[in-house]
Amino acid sequence: MRWKTDEYSGWGRVLRATGERARPEKTNALKAILREGGLPAIGNLRSYGDAALNSGGRAVDMTRLDRLLAFDPETGILEAEAGVTIGEILRLFLPKGWIPAVMPGTGFATLGGCIGHDVHGKNHHVAGSFGQHVTRIDLLGTNGRVRRITPEGNPDLFRATIGGMGQTGIILSAAIRMIPATSPLMDLRESRIDTLAEFIAMLDASTATYCVGWIDATAKGATLGRGILEEAEIGSHGQMPKAPRHKSVPFNAPGFLLSSPVVRAFNHLYFRRVPVGGRRLDRAMADFFFPLDKVHDWNRLYGKSGFHQFQCVLPEAPAREALAKMLEQIARSRLASPLAVLKKLGPGRGGMMSFPMEGFTLAVDFPNRPASAGLIRELGDIAADAGGRIYLAKDALASAATIAGMYDEREAFAAAANAVDPAHALETDLTRRLKLRDAT
Ligand SMILES: Cc1cc2nc3c(=O)[nH]c(=O)nc-3n(C[C@H](O)[C@H](O)[C@H](O)COP(=O)(O)OP(=O)(O)OC[C@H]3O[C@@H](n4cnc5c(N)ncnc54)[C@H](O)[C@@H]3O)c2cc1C
Repeated sequence: MRWKTDEYSGWGRVLRATGERARPEKTNALKAILREGGLPAIGNLRSYGDAALNSGGRAVDMTRLDRLLAFDPETGILEAEAGVTIGEILRLFLPKGWIPAVMPGTGFATLGGCIGHDVHGKNHHVAGSFGQHVTRIDLLGTNGRVRRITPEGNPDLFRATIGGMGQTGIILSAAIRMIPATSPLMDLRESRIDTLAEFIAMLDASTATYCVGWIDATAKGATLGRGILEEAEIGSHGQMPKAPRHKSVPFNAPGFLLSSPVVRAFNHLYFRRVPVGGRRLDRAMADFFFPLDKVHDWNRLYGKSGFHQFQCVLPEAPAREALAKMLEQIARSRLASPLAVLKKLGPGRGGMMSFPMEGFTLAVDFPNRPASAGLIRELGDIAADAGGRIYLAKDALASAATIAGMYDEREAFAAAANAVDPAHALETDLTRRLKLRDAT
């Protein structure tokens, strides 16, 4: 197997690793690699921080192991290799009337990566998390043996693997439950929201299957928490839209592009894009689920030094107060970018280290400037005080102490991972930084 030594990074481009990576095309080649020693698997590097980095060590890039293995139209169960992307599954199955039950905000995430972080989608409040639709995983252990695990047959190992950040083995393939889709279009309703209180009330009252809010993180005072709510259902008519032409960001953008006055002006116009009384429109599925994928390499817009995403979830009761505090601090910092999302999550979670909890999740991007780290740590403290948690797929800054109280099944997770990987060969920069595998 050919190994390539180079520097690579997570999507935020702040944390980087230098190490050897191999990109096998066949399972046998992957098994041969394991004979030289265990190593973590990585997907399409769409995690923002260091979840998929192994500084100074080896990692196996799974993106060429992307074959579809079987599909049962009676049950909607799809079996596929772990390197296939969610966007590719949508592209191939939508014309046949099926879509993945849960999709994250980028179609570039692989099946293995979606399991590794037990990702959530815009329908989390009704469908739960990705891992709750996984019916079987073929897991390659550091000993080179493949185990077929299911939620019923291996409940502990299964729950440690869903959201387990690759710490229980390399996911070779998995079976997922798909859902029927009667149209390639989403029937979308957009509403303007003027205040945080109104936003929370609208998210609470929404009966839509897919529901997500854009929030103006530069707004303060009387307009604090204003934004746009998107509520959608799978449509009932429409033709497959033509595949869109993707644009790309060819170079690292200059710093002024995301300066505070430019972001404020952009947000002002973006908010007014939706008329006061709201509007209804059809949107192609890929555009609705993966709005940012239309621009390849959009992470370059933040320039060479990269960016952070802060994402937390807060339990319902303290959420209103904690969100107000966070948004005030963000607006005051003048560091926010236009990318800010507010959403209600349901209780569904598939694994011990899954992020979702019932409540509200806030995600905001910040350019990597000197003041950003301090602000993000303060936001993390507010989340911790409110009994919430930080999303590890997005994190690059938290400490083991901050995370300790947030993931209440961490010890059970460490025990399950250490039992199948006693040499800690699967650890990544993230698990080492946050001491996720340390026994207590
Ligand atoms: C624009 C954008 C929007 C996003 N929106 C959402 C969202 O709405 N909801 C959400 O939950 N997340 C979201 N994310 C985060 C993203 O879905 C997750 O980080 C996902 O894990 C990325 O998949 P990947 O294939 O790039 O995995 P990577 O980032 O490469 O890896 C993620 C983790 O999975 C492990 N892993 C990957 N493949 C395997 C394998 N085959 N076997 C074992 N372990 C493996 C890695 O070791 C690592 O720990 C978004 C990210 C971006 C860039």
